[in-house]
Amino acid sequence: MKLYLLAASTLATRSSSALPFRGRPPKTEENGERRNQAVEQFLASETPEASAVLQQRVHQDAMEIFDFLVDTRRTLHRHPELMYQEEETSKAIQTILREFDIEFTTGWAVNTNPDVHPGPGGYGVVADIGTGKEPCILLRADMDALPIMEQTNVDFRSQYPNKMHACGHDGHTTMLLGAARILKGMENSLNGTVRLVFQPAEEGGAGAKRMREEGVLTQQPKPALAMGMHVWPTLPSGVVAARPGPLLAACERFEITLQGVGGHAAMPHLVTDPIVTGASIIMNLQTIVSRNTSPLEAGVCSITKFEAGSAFNIIPDSAIIWGTIRALSTETLLELRDRVQHIVQSTATTYGCNATIKYSPDYYPPTVNDPALFESFSKEVGALVSEEGRLRETEPTMGAEDFSFFAESIPSTFYLLGQGSGQVPPTNYGLHHPQFALDESVLTRGVELHVNWAVRALKKLAENDETSRQIRTAEL
Ligand SMILES: [Zn+2]
Ligand SMILES: [Zn+2]
Repeated sequence: MKLYLLAASTLATRSSSALPFRGRPPKTEENGERRNQAVEQFLASETPEASAVLQQRVHQDAMEIFDFLVDTRRTLHRHPELMYQEEETSKAIQTILREFDIEFTTGWAVNTNPDVHPGPGGYGVVADIGTGKEPCILLRADMDALPIMEQTNVDFRSQYPNKMHACGHDGHTTMLLGAARILKGMENSLNGTVRLVFQPAEEGGAGAKRMREEGVLTQQPKPALAMGMHVWPTLPSGVVAARPGPLLAACERFEITLQGVGGHAAMPHLVTDPIVTGASIIMNLQTIVSRNTSPLEAGVCSITKFEAGSAFNIIPDSAIIWGTIRALSTETLLELRDRVQHIVQSTATTYGCNATIKYSPDYYPPTVNDPALFESFSKEVGALVSEEGRLRETEPTMGAEDFSFFAESIPSTFYLLGQGSGQVPPTNYGLHHPQFALDESVLTRGVELHVNWAVRALKKLAENDETSRQIRTAEL
C-alpha cells in the first residue's frame, strides 16, 4: 500500500469535488487561549476541580460547533457509501481537516479481498495532532454505510437507493471531526500526539485489520492506547455505558453450499435431496451451543438465510445456507467454528450430499476493554460526559465491531453512547433498521468523550513515563 501526504495542489483538486457543505467549518483559533489554560491547569493538577473545569471548557467548545456538527452529519447522511467505496466520505473528511489546518495521510484500508467485498478501498484517513512525538494515543471513527433502503422521512435522508447510514457511522465520523477541531485548538498545550483514525469498511470488511496491517498502530509516534465508541439506540440519549473486559462479541460468518442430485418431487428415491440435508444440518447446528459450549460461556449460532429450489414439484440439486457464530472469546469462536465444520460435513455425508463451507476472510475478535485502563480513567471520563453523571456498567452484547483489531493489539476502551430518547424522528429503532435515526443531540457528547479521553490518556501516559523514569533512576 502506498501512503502519501496530500500536496496542497492535490487537495485543492480533491476538495472541489467533495460533498457540498452549507457552512464552512469554524476555524480553530477561537477561544484558543482559554482552552489552552484549561488543559494546562489540568495537566499540572490532580484536583477534581481542574478536571471539571477542563470538561466544562470542552463542553462549551462542543456546543459552539453544534451547527457544524449537524450540518456535517446530515451531509454525510445524504451520501452514504458502502465499505471499500467511501470515496466521497473520505474527500469530505479531508476537506474539513484541511480547513482546520490539520495534516493527514490517506490511502489507508486498501481492500485485499475485492472478490468478497467490491470496491478498491484505500479511503481511510489518518491525522496526527500534537507534538508529533510519543506519548501517542489513538481515537477512531468508522465511515461506511449499509446496503439498506432508508425508510425515514427526514429531508436529509439518503439520496442513494439501497444505501443508508443505518449504523450511525455518519455520526461517529462527525464526532471525530468535531474532536479534531477542539484538539487542534489545544495543540500547543498537548503533551503528546493524538492520532485520529477515520476507518472505512467496519460493516464486515475488517477495515481496522487492514489499517493495522498497514501500520496505523506501529507508525511513529506509536500509539500506546486507543479509544472508540458506538451510538446505542437501546440506551437513553446522553448515557455513556461500557464495562471492563469483553463488551462486544467475536464474530464469524459462513456460507454452506450443498450439492445433491435433483429430480422429480414424486420420485425422491431417485434424487439426493439438498433441502432435507440442509434442514437436518440446521437442526444439528442448534446442538453446538446447547451441547458443546459450557453453560457459563456465551455463544450464538444463527442461520439467517436458506436458499433452494424453484417449483413445488422439483427437488433441486443444490442449496445454500448462510449463518453466523458469535462468542465472547476468540478461543470459543474457533471451537464453534470447528463444530460447525464437523456437523456440516458429517450430516451431509449421512445424506449423501457434498458440502463446502466458506468463511469470511477475517473473523472479528471480541472487543475487549482493558480492565486496568478502564479503572484508571476511562470510567471517570465516561462519568464526566454522561447525562447520568456516572458511567453505566452494561452487560456484554453479541453484536460485533472491528475496533476489536485495535483493542487486540493495544490497551483500549470502547464506549456505548446512548441515543434512544429522540422523538422526531424516533431514535430508538435498532442499528441496521431502515428507520434507524441518529439523535443529533448526542453529537456533542461524542466530541466531549473523544477530547476528554485523549487529554487524560496523554496525561496518564506521561505520568507512567515519569514513574518508570524515577524507578530506573532509583535502581541506578
Ligand atoms: Zn453496523
Ligand atoms: Zn456500526
